[in-house]
Amino acid sequence: MDTVRKYSIAYKGLSQGEHTFDFEIGDDLFQLFENKEIKGGNCRAEIELVRSERQLQLGVSIRGEVIVECDRCLGDCALPVDFAGKLVVKFSDEIREYDGETMWISAAQDYVELAQYLYESIILSLPYQRVHPEGACDPDMLRRFRIVSDEEFEQIENRVETQQAAAAENEQWTRSLETLKERMEQEEEKKR
Ligand SMILES: [Zn+2]
Repeated sequence: MDTVRKYSIAYKGLSQGEHTFDFEIGDDLFQLFENKEIKGGNCRAEIELVRSERQLQLGVSIRGEVIVECDRCLGDCALPVDFAGKLVVKFSDEIREYDGETMWISAAQDYVELAQYLYESIILSLPYQRVHPEGACDPDMLRRFRIVSDEEFEQIENRVETQQAAAAENEQWTRSLETLKERMEQEEEKKR
């Protein structure tokens, strides 16, 4: 079964009235879409479907977890999904564009394809800011991204200069010690 078919409902054989469907949503759904906003995940969609003559009414709830890129540290970050929405599917020879509430399909079509609807609903349910909980970000990545202010930069430069000056001073001191030692040895030899 291909992925699009897996997330479809074969409605033709359904009697008028209520039906329920469950979908286990896995990585395959997220891989269908190009933008890679969601890297993977595990969700469960429960669909309450009411069939009538000219349309289907769907009550959709999706719960689970998806993996996205953390906005702060770019690491993998698991976010909970909790979505509830309604969708109307109308049978018509005149196919109009899906407007977020109503989907139009030809009466000749055997399946209602829900892959895109499920994917978009999951995206919609995610918070605007997608980040790890406070303190859970990758510390190495945060350090790498940290923007150093001018003041901090100056402090770092000063520290390096001070260290270099100290090293130079140290070298001079060592050299004078050696000179002193040599001179003392020479003095010692003269005495013998
Ligand atoms: Zn993070």
